[in-house]
Amino acid sequence: MNLVVLKFGGTSVADVPQIKKIALKIKNEVDQGNKVIVVVSAMAGVTNSLIDLTKSASDKPLSSEYDVVLSTGEQVTSALLAISLDNINIKARSWLGWQVPIITDKSHGKAIIEEIKTDQILEFLKQSQVAIISGFQGISKENRISTLGRGGSDTSAVAIAASFSAQRCDIYTDVDGVYTTDPRIVKNAKKLNQITYEEMLELASQGAKVLQTRSVALAMKYNVKLRVLSSFEDLPGTSIIKEEKNMEKTEISGIAHSLNEAKITLSGVPDKPGQAAEIFGALAKYSINVDMIVQSSSINHEATDITFTIPETDLMITESTIKKIQQKIGFKKFITERNVIKISVVGNAMRTQSGIAKTMFETLANNNINIHVISTSEIKISVLISSDYYELAMRSLHSAFGLDV
Ligand code: ADP
Ligand code: ASP
Ligand code: MG
Repeated sequence: MNLVVLKFGGTSVADVPQIKKIALKIKNEVDQGNKVIVVVSAMAGVTNSLIDLTKSASDKPLSSEYDVVLSTGEQVTSALLAISLDNINIKARSWLGWQVPIITDKSHGKAIIEEIKTDQILEFLKQSQVAIISGFQGISKENRISTLGRGGSDTSAVAIAASFSAQRCDIYTDVDGVYTTDPRIVKNAKKLNQITYEEMLELASQGAKVLQTRSVALAMKYNVKLRVLSSFEDLPGTSIIKEEKNMEKTEISGIAHSLNEAKITLSGVPDKPGQAAEIFGALAKYSINVDMIVQSSSINHEATDITFTIPETDLMITESTIKKIQQKIGFKKFITERNVIKISVVGNAMRTQSGIAKTMFETLANNNINIHVISTSEIKISVLISSDYYELAMRSLHSAFGLDV
């Protein structure tokens, strides 16, 4: 069976006329002799409204019921698409996550896919042409609806493509591919014809929301042939590939930014073994995702400062956890800063190319932008700066690395 997976994001299914247009795109695949599994998101803005609805019912909505509410967005679009396909004589039906079933763990709001059963859909596709699966959702072993976290339909699509051994997984969205940086912020960003899984993983994890990070990790693990394409224009898109053909590529691949960061500094932390384990152990208990960490070295071995970043959404729980351990650890005080943003430069070129850090720091200095925290990996350099300068930083770095079109 020639099977392809096509995923359409929120703006691609924003209203019924748009859904009718993508129905024609799907018909085109069917006409080429393919069986199609379509994964759909909720209509643009619907998931946000559903979140607001749950919040208006309670400050702390039950996580299991929160998922029941949120999953309804994708239920609507999958059925509207099935109706639109029927209208043009394509045999299709909608499948909710629990009907497939897509089995997840029970961590509501950020559930992990454990297994996707393929038999019912494969049987269905013997007689029909298109199975439309609601993205972003599954069912736990406790028989409760679960959701996969914001942007999770990308992960649904890749997981489905891997489970059904699909020939390719095409992610249709509102841009015509992966760019050197967010084209909505830097107008002269350049479209990439291809990018490696590894680079895409770094870009996504550093804030490039064109693909959810988990979807890229899954594609890499299961070798899924992944592309990002425009729903609105017939253009080639970007292929996510295993290895770069040009082995000694000298350019960096892209720049990502992550808003909604917060920085915490603990000052006067006694300089003795076990302190970092104690602090970050306490945060881990609440599943707080700590990102950048720096510790100043103490000259007299008495006290150090420890700075780290977290998602701004975890700030309240982080502050209360830090307060609880202040006496035990014995640090002097802690300072919180919200108005910060992380900018990351990513590229395989960093493995062989020197001077990338120098270019990055010089460019920021020339624009009078102060760096709060630096962190690096083999193919990435990230800096934390004041959010007041983020557009200036993105544009000047993009141009300094020769990425402008
Ligand atoms: P969808 O609703 O289709 O899932 P998203 O809004 O989640 O779409 O992702 C597409 C958006 O990702 C684009 O509109 C763009 O603003 C943003 N984006 C961020 N970084 C990049 C990048 N490097 N290349 C392309 N798009 C990017
Ligand atoms: N509708 C969900 C969201 O807005 C999932 C997705 O679109 O990928 O996050
Ligand atoms: Mg998305």
